[in-house]
Amino acid sequence: MDHALRRTRLAERLDELGVDALLVTRAPNVRYLTGFTGSNGRVVVGRAASIFLTDGRYDEQSRTEVADLERRVYRGPLLEPAVAAARDLGSARLGFEPEGITYGAWDRLRTYAGDLELIPAPALVEDLRIVKDADELGRIRRAQACADVAFENVVLSELTEGLTEREVAFGLDVAMRRAGADGPGFETIVAFGENAAEPHHGPTDRPLRRGDLVKVDMGGVFDGYHSDMTRTVAFGSPDERIRELYELVAAAQRAGVAAVAAGARIADVDRAARGVIEDAGHGERFPHGLGHGVGLEIHEAPMLRWDAEGELAAGAVVTVEPGVYIPGVGGVRIEDMVEVTPDGGRVIPSIAKELIVL
Ligand code: ZN
Ligand code: ZN
Repeated sequence: MDHALRRTRLAERLDELGVDALLVTRAPNVRYLTGFTGSNGRVVVGRAASIFLTDGRYDEQSRTEVADLERRVYRGPLLEPAVAAARDLGSARLGFEPEGITYGAWDRLRTYAGDLELIPAPALVEDLRIVKDADELGRIRRAQACADVAFENVVLSELTEGLTEREVAFGLDVAMRRAGADGPGFETIVAFGENAAEPHHGPTDRPLRRGDLVKVDMGGVFDGYHSDMTRTVAFGSPDERIRELYELVAAAQRAGVAAVAAGARIADVDRAARGVIEDAGHGERFPHGLGHGVGLEIHEAPMLRWDAEGELAAGAVVTVEPGVYIPGVGGVRIEDMVEVTPDGGRVIPSIAKELIVL
């Protein structure tokens, strides 16, 4: 990972915000720009140089992870030293991440800043993070491979009547770690039967019964990078209504994937999938956006929504995950990660998508 190159790209964009340095406080952004994996790091990126700040717990770790930067290690809070670092870099107009500080921190930052002008610089690093390089893509694929192994071993091979949602979710988390993941990238969703009508259902003690749909939304983390997949399988032969629902969501998902391409308007991609569901009369039952970017965070830019502005960039990795949820009956969601290429969307390989009946 070429962190220096990333900082250079960021430095080149400081002017467009009218700042001469940026105080980066969001952990995934600090990681992206420096390689630091700890919980408390800040970096001030100036035009010509950058300064990294952390506390004593991370002195040794940052010595190796952030070997190419001036490091400053403190005992106390980092905000005041960060302002001092910006001054040392010659900054008169310091950008900060509005999503990266609390109201309390903002109050302190203003006090420390004095005559240093503070300017909100929203989503600049998040914007750079949209396009993935080969190393990042490799990590996302590895994270997905860990999730695939877990899904095969736990859902496709071991589901039995009476297992609870909680037990299956726990089994998936353990299996992802065993397959080499750092851990699950978010709370694993396992929803049986009527619970699948909740898009984001927290696993409960509901036992698995014959005839249930099983909706699983899961992802691993590998070396900081996430994966995200949803599959819905049938435990026992489903009735005709469920089969139709599944085919509808599968068709919407195919339409969404087919619409992914470098330069495609994001709202059009959402529309491609949403239109299929609306035409079937279920528009109200697809209450969320089509997908989101995946990388150092499980949900990151770009968000694929009906009201999104802008176009997809080549090299982005986004999910395509339409769903239809019917209260009292259940729900189906199918989700893949898709790499955006000039020639269209390339689905990152994962578990088969035809309706699997166990
Ligand atoms: Zn998901
Ligand atoms: Zn997702």
